Amino acid sequence: MTLPLLSPDAALFLDFDGCLVDIAPRPDAVVVTPALRDRLSALHRRQGGAVALISGRDVADLRGHLPDFPGFVAGSHGSELSLEPGRITTLHQVDFDAPALHRAARDRAAPHPALLVEEKPHGVALHYRDASQLRDFVETVMQDLAAQHPHLVLQPAKMALELRPGGVGKDSAMAHLLTLPPFAGRMPVFAGDDTTDEPAMAHAQSRGGFAIKIGDGPTAAHHRLSDPAALAAWLDASLT
Ligand SMILES: [Mg+2]
Repeated sequence: MTLPLLSPDAALFLDFDGCLVDIAPRPDAVVVTPALRDRLSALHRRQGGAVALISGRDVADLRGHLPDFPGFVAGSHGSELSLEPGRITTLHQVDFDAPALHRAARDRAAPHPALLVEEKPHGVALHYRDASQLRDFVETVMQDLAAQHPHLVLQPAKMALELRPGGVGKDSAMAHLLTLPPFAGRMPVFAGDDTTDEPAMAHAQSRGGFAIKIGDGPTAAHHRLSDPAALAAWLDASLT
């Protein structure tokens, strides 16, 4: 199916890692180029503000990488929503001891310096980007932690496993944003690269929009682009 250019009337939802930026060895090592910042600002203007980033990262982390992005940001897989820089609304509040979870994850990961513990306000991710041989160990650790925190669900991601709140997702974040101006009434378009993006891709298509899978792997999306550079080229073509 031919990928159409982005209509200025569409609502655009973009994943971050592996979609707007290349996956880096460590999550804090991603590179945001001036061209990407300019592209997002131009898209935001052209779509009348209907551009949102939807990421597994928490909102503060994502805003830190894109400090001048004026649009909406949904973080932590849809648990957090930020309608403007500096403000964060928690969509799914769970009462649990996040520092204790973070501490337990750090303690378990300590024997393996190649592992990276990403502490999130509503969960934790354990990255093995530099150490794929540790995948089974990471799985064991995260299943143990999941058993102690039944309100959290285990979320596989690229070279990581994450515990995040159940009952939320990128699809529910998108559905919520589509009830708000300037998104309401627009056709949703979603681009993402990971298994965590699949429900949002299916949701966009179920509402008459379309989805773009970035990179390899099985997907529900009807369109595919090879990498973040190809997505950037498509966005730039839509802007001209
Ligand atoms: Mg991604």
